[in-house]
Amino acid sequence: MSHLYDEVPFYINEQLNGVDESIPEFKFYYKDGQLSCYLFKGIFYTGTWPEYWAKFQYNSGVLFGTGPAHCRRCIINGSKRGVMVGPCVKCAPQYDYELGSGFERFGKEATLIIDGKLVPSVNDLHMKYIDLSTIGRPIEPVLLDESLELACNELRDKLFKIHGSTVDEQEAIEGLMRFIKSFNNPQEIREKIDSALLIPDSKMYNQNWAGTDWDWYTGQLNKDESYAYLFTKEECESIRISQERVRELVEFGRRAFIYGGNIEE
Ligand SMILES: [Zn+2]
Repeated sequence: MSHLYDEVPFYINEQLNGVDESIPEFKFYYKDGQLSCYLFKGIFYTGTWPEYWAKFQYNSGVLFGTGPAHCRRCIINGSKRGVMVGPCVKCAPQYDYELGSGFERFGKEATLIIDGKLVPSVNDLHMKYIDLSTIGRPIEPVLLDESLELACNELRDKLFKIHGSTVDEQEAIEGLMRFIKSFNNPQEIREKIDSALLIPDSKMYNQNWAGTDWDWYTGQLNKDESYAYLFTKEECESIRISQERVRELVEFGRRAFIYGGNIEE
């Protein structure tokens, strides 16, 4: 028997027995309103690891054995205190190098030069604003203010009456409560408590609340107004340039990956 999947039994189990309806697909954990990390299909990812990459590699990575759900090296090399911070060096091209050049061994990123340019480190990408010393398994938020704690419990009960039935919906409520309680500023918590009941059922499921426009989700802002939050022209242009650059890198990286060529020259 291969030991490749020792640490990722969730995927195999799901393939053999079907999706376990008693386990939520996503669990989100927050720190002062920001996503600190999330659990997807049994694997913890740092909050800035794009959810679409976690999902995409879970579903399609099985073909190449890439991503932490399928690759043991990703888990061993690219995690810190049990949370994924980057892929391994072999899998990095499958993420279009958006998550760095990949970790060649535990905690050590590969130095990769493509087309004369250095592939950026995770510390210049999704880990740029993350304090590495705070990475670790999530801690449930604790409120010190008794009246806030009571208001939160009351809200939780009401949300369960409105939304809670399936495991994912119940987790959505627990996740929303973690988000609300995560704020350092009690005023922020009170505002969220006051408007959380306005969130429609259709917007509860599998939600990363740190990535949402709260006022729009609670119907306190109409959709036209929310366009004010769109990117400026200059921002669009800089995004377009960086996407083009990433596409070039990917094309080059894929060729090197497929033919096993020496990418560094
Ligand atoms: Zn890997």
